[in-house]
Amino acid sequence: STSAVVRTRFAPSPTGYLHLGGARTALFSWAFARHHKGVFVLRIEDTDLERSTPEAVQAILDGMAWLDMQPDEGPFYQMQRMDRYREVLAGMLAKGTAYYCYSSPQEVEAMREKARSQGLKPRYDGTWRPAPGKTLPPIPEGRKPVVRFKNPQDGATGWDDLIKGPISIDNTELDDLIIARPDGTPTYNFCVVVDDWDMNITHVLRGDDHVNNTPRQINILRALGATLPQYGHLPMILGPDGEKLSKRHGAVSVMDYDKEGYLPEAMINYLARLGWSHGNDEIFSREQLVEWFDTRNLTKSAAQWDPKKLNWVNAHY
Ligand code: GLU
Repeated sequence: STSAVVRTRFAPSPTGYLHLGGARTALFSWAFARHHKGVFVLRIEDTDLERSTPEAVQAILDGMAWLDMQPDEGPFYQMQRMDRYREVLAGMLAKGTAYYCYSSPQEVEAMREKARSQGLKPRYDGTWRPAPGKTLPPIPEGRKPVVRFKNPQDGATGWDDLIKGPISIDNTELDDLIIARPDGTPTYNFCVVVDDWDMNITHVLRGDDHVNNTPRQINILRALGATLPQYGHLPMILGPDGEKLSKRHGAVSVMDYDKEGYLPEAMINYLARLGWSHGNDEIFSREQLVEWFDTRNLTKSAAQWDPKKLNWVNAHY
């Protein structure tokens, strides 16, 4: 899966409205793709059946339409790709890059406790991890296995983050990740990996709450023989009080701003300035944003939401 064309994606979980942080992530992914005359993909990560709703999907589509960030491909829905995830899982099991683990949750908790009591990081002890010459325990009767990824046990996994710079995690820090549950459904990180691979994503821009997932995803991508995308992790947006921007700070759904009469272009302008800058230009057009957009101008530090500034931008549009 290689491609010379820049391909980015926005991959929201439809668990609520399109919030400001999500809209900014989408905007940067959209602007980066446009700048490189690439492809912007929309992927709805709807595998969390408890929390995903059709209303939230619609709210995301509405928010993106209002801001006129239309995807070139998608929306793709993860729930419609289950057969594909199962196919990739089967391939990994056949190849030995993943394995069935029959340890019960209670047994895994006991392993963690044991490691903790020895002053080690809590972890799965590898009971079911196949190795040359190793005899696996007998399969407990009637027990359904999870599938674990065979994470490398030595070395480090690193990447040169487009925003944060080089990051490296010791592989001993990473457990053999569960990639399918006892009922056979694939887990979150696994779906993301298969999708980024299948959709030939070249650049992943997402919130830095996903930094911990990245080395796990990279290891799985490598096991699949995939070309790695480049990753850039955006710092969160802070509220005016310096805390993570949330509902307490008032309107956090982009569509609330539509209702209040803000111009989508002003919103785009202001969102772009939250963590990206172009000299001293305060007001610029969508076309200029696309022309100037460069990940090197994304800032490492968290941006602060300032309603007064948004009002100023809106008034000057
Ligand atoms: N679905 C994730 C979220 O909404 C994003 C996953 C990703 O960008 O890799 O936080």
